[in-house]
Amino acid sequence: MKKTLFLGMLVLTSPLAWPQQPSEATVESHVAAARRAAGTDLGALMELCKPAPSVRPPQEAVDKGIAAQIARPAPPPGQAFDNLYFVGAAWATAWALQTADGIVVFDPLNNQDEAAALIDGGLRKLGLDPAQIKYLIVSHGHGDHYGGAPYLIEKYRPRVVMSDLDWTMTETKLEFASVHWPSPPKRDISVKDGDKVTLGGTAISLMLTPGHTKGTLSPVFDVTWKGVKHRVMIWGGTSFNFGKDVPRLDSYIEATRRMSGLAREQGIDVMISNHAAFDGAITKLEALRKQPAGPNPFVMGKENVVRALNVMGECAQAQKDRFLLQP
Ligand SMILES: [Zn+2]
Repeated sequence: MKKTLFLGMLVLTSPLAWPQQPSEATVESHVAAARRAAGTDLGALMELCKPAPSVRPPQEAVDKGIAAQIARPAPPPGQAFDNLYFVGAAWATAWALQTADGIVVFDPLNNQDEAAALIDGGLRKLGLDPAQIKYLIVSHGHGDHYGGAPYLIEKYRPRVVMSDLDWTMTETKLEFASVHWPSPPKRDISVKDGDKVTLGGTAISLMLTPGHTKGTLSPVFDVTWKGVKHRVMIWGGTSFNFGKDVPRLDSYIEATRRMSGLAREQGIDVMISNHAAFDGAITKLEALRKQPAGPNPFVMGKENVVRALNVMGECAQAQKDRFLLQP
């Protein structure tokens, strides 16, 4: 990977080796590279290689799509690691990290009903106390990740963490709005790239991985499984649903490269998503429930985390070339 990164830098800095002009062939070659990287186990990520719209659909269609997603029956809550629990819906997922001093919830779902039934109720079903929620970490300023926050804030008074960029976006003009989402929570803790939130001896590094939004955060932290340590990255924002915006795709591509380096450096061997469609979390939880003594399907190994990031990076490059080819 180091070699590739080095070559990548050469390509960017040397005028003699300018990147290839975008063409149908370059689009295809990036899609093919993504498909090769995805293999048979990461096929769900290939969804990202489908052509993305150059403009957002009309609001009515957005609202209809969100309503349909929210209406899907929710999976049961579950345990992925000794101290990491799934408390999500079928579409957007939420995760709860238990520490010695309380619980951190990542991405508190779409709305009050989901937060009450799936986070509040889900934690109780798992034998955890939702009154122990101390932090809500919101990956980015879209309502499917903050919509349940106001309910949890009112009930349990946790601190809310988001990037400075996305707080500003939610305070000024929402990039994505829907009648199905409440108003965003008020600015609380703003973080920059690499800032940490620490609770009960567990440090959560918040890495800025811009693209899906300008201030998307991907949290990185340790968990254990049967006492063995693993390092997790929650990829904070996946889809290219921002319309024709090439610089945005460039930052996405750069974020996948940087996180590949981090995965190698820190031995990140688990990558999960905040939408189950991309990481098969619900199927993995089901497998773990059936065979608790078997291998943990969430443990991918760092090479496979790097491969997943490659799939996303290649799909972003394909989409960038598609946009560049448009008049
Ligand atoms: Zn989003």
